[in-house]
Amino acid sequence: MKSEILSIERWDTPQPQRDNTVCSAHGKKSCARDLAAKVVLQDEGSDHIEWTVCEHWLDHEPDVAAHEARYS
Ligand SMILES: [Zn+2]
Repeated sequence: MKSEILSIERWDTPQPQRDNTVCSAHGKKSCARDLAAKVVLQDEGSDHIEWTVCEHWLDHEPDVAAHEARYS
């Protein structure tokens, strides 16, 4: 399913993952990095999906670069 990034809110201070706040992109099992941003996405099933993501995902996800090029 194709998803689209609506907004990216980068935090000044990264936050460690907690039980109910994990890296949405990678999942708790495969990502132990601190969280660096909240991302709002939409896809065919929902027009408001909130993700918390690590810096690694922000740096390597092509859709992030495309979003920031469009809105900055
Ligand atoms: Zn991650």
